[in-house]
Amino acid sequence: MATAATRIANLRPWLLALLAAALSAVFLLGGSLGLAMHQARQDESEQMNAQGERFLVRLEQLFGQLREGLDQLEAQPLRTCSPQMLDTLRQVSVSYRFIYEAAFVGDGRTCSSWPKRTELNRPRAPDIRGPTYDYWLNTSAQLDDNLAALMLGRGDFRVSTSRGHLTDVVDLPAGGSLLVVLDKGVRAVPVLGPAQEWPPTPDWSPLTVETLVTTPTQLIYRMPTQSPEYQLVLITPRTALGQPLSSAWWFLAPASMLIALCVGVLVLQLMRQRQSLGGELEGALRRGELQVLYQPIFDLKSRRCVGGEALVRWRRPDGSLTSPDLFIPLAENTGQIRQITDFVLQQLLEQLGPLLRANPQLYISVNLAACDVMAPRIGKVTARLLAQHKVSPHQIAFEVTERGLIDVVVARNHLQALRDVGHQVLIDDFGTGYCSLAYLQTLPVDCLKIDKAFIDALGHDAASSGVAPHIIRMAHALQLRVIAEGIEYEAQAVLLSSEGVSYGQGWLFARPLSALKFSELVTGGRREITRRSGDVA
Ligand code: C2E
Ligand code: CA
Ligand code: CA
Repeated sequence: MATAATRIANLRPWLLALLAAALSAVFLLGGSLGLAMHQARQDESEQMNAQGERFLVRLEQLFGQLREGLDQLEAQPLRTCSPQMLDTLRQVSVSYRFIYEAAFVGDGRTCSSWPKRTELNRPRAPDIRGPTYDYWLNTSAQLDDNLAALMLGRGDFRVSTSRGHLTDVVDLPAGGSLLVVLDKGVRAVPVLGPAQEWPPTPDWSPLTVETLVTTPTQLIYRMPTQSPEYQLVLITPRTALGQPLSSAWWFLAPASMLIALCVGVLVLQLMRQRQSLGGELEGALRRGELQVLYQPIFDLKSRRCVGGEALVRWRRPDGSLTSPDLFIPLAENTGQIRQITDFVLQQLLEQLGPLLRANPQLYISVNLAACDVMAPRIGKVTARLLAQHKVSPHQIAFEVTERGLIDVVVARNHLQALRDVGHQVLIDDFGTGYCSLAYLQTLPVDCLKIDKAFIDALGHDAASSGVAPHIIRMAHALQLRVIAEGIEYEAQAVLLSSEGVSYGQGWLFARPLSALKFSELVTGGRREITRRSGDVA
């Protein structure tokens, strides 16, 4: 049972890392897919627009040549199928690239630049009758590629372009069709590509101005033409235009997977680091690598040491120090903080018991974590140690931060219990949390410690002000004592004293000291003796 629990605990970093990697992969891949699809759609539309425009230019060129050829034939005087007429027809078909055949159909018979053509011998009514030109369209269902896909007529002359010519002009994607839309949008003749269902959308209107219409399966590009009799429409199936996903996907997908992998590795490393730090801390407690230092607290007027704050240190076997800012939050999470608080209390009474007994006004304050405040345990532990070392409860103060007061009702009861036996209660880092004046009034507290950040803001000269004077006035209104933390300059001490702050702590007076140096400072009585000489941390 126990080994199974340990195994799960050991697996947790892996599981968490996997979960983090999977989540980021899903998130990133989803995002990339969306982006790639959007990009693909945009590419598709852009491609179609470009293709449509290219078509239009070439078709206009083609129509232009057919019309020019007709105009030229119409302008010359010959009106019989003479050898000169054949020469003229051949000349026209040779000089215009897109004219495959030129013919004369008057005079009761047909003569053509292609002598054996039969198509023109079977006259039928034109598909489009314009004011100057008539148009015949040959649907792409017709198998012979050389048959006139498009024929134009003026008077007794005809010119045509073959489907082969047309294919040459417009390179349709597979499955795409070029349609000529007639009869006010009702009929569509596919001149290239397979026949398409017409109308392409249920609400199709020849009057719509939109050039590109997209359906789930098709892209429909309508080319504006100068002639009101017909419209040119290009239809291509959507998959025919490149890949469904843009090339961005092939970059984004592996990049997403790589980032997800990095996230997983990072989480694993962090978890392992945490786990190993937690494990190391366990060992440190056992091996006695933790030690307690005492930072003296001074009366700002008399400059005499009135007490101290117990601060824990982790000195590793190689002599390096790990900051409490690093391992205290971890110990709070793992619950090891209880052991640390007990250790600090025990050390302080063992090391400073005689000093405290000899100086009944001297006190040491101990930092409590949230879980220490939420249970009555700390009162019991302290009571036992105090009885053992014959020290008065008045000489042990407890510092709690605003963040530590998670459940105010529970915290208030436990703090009150501590005060009832004679301990002092201090609010640490005051001003950095959310404590309001009204809230503060309800708490059983003796003293406020103004956070170093506010003391720093006082500046190095006495003239500047900030939040600190406000906090000081607030504390006085509530009849609370004030300790200023992190005093580094004489000017700060002078200003704070003039604002009515009685006590201060900081490098100006002393850094955290070993029990021995702290005792020397107290018994020496004057800060000058030990100032900077016995600095430990
Ligand atoms: P804190 O309770 O606000 O402790 C004051 C911190 O300010 C200490 O850092 C002290 O060395 C530093 N300090 C004091 N005067 C000055 C100054 O003039 N200038 C500067 N720059 N710093 C100054 P330390 O010892 O590194 O402790 C950091 C934090 O770790 C403490 O902040 C406290 O929150 C936590 N901590 C330390 N020991 C314990 C402990 O035994 N139990 C608990 N629960 N927390 C502890
Ligand atoms: Ca503190
Ligand atoms: Ca503090």
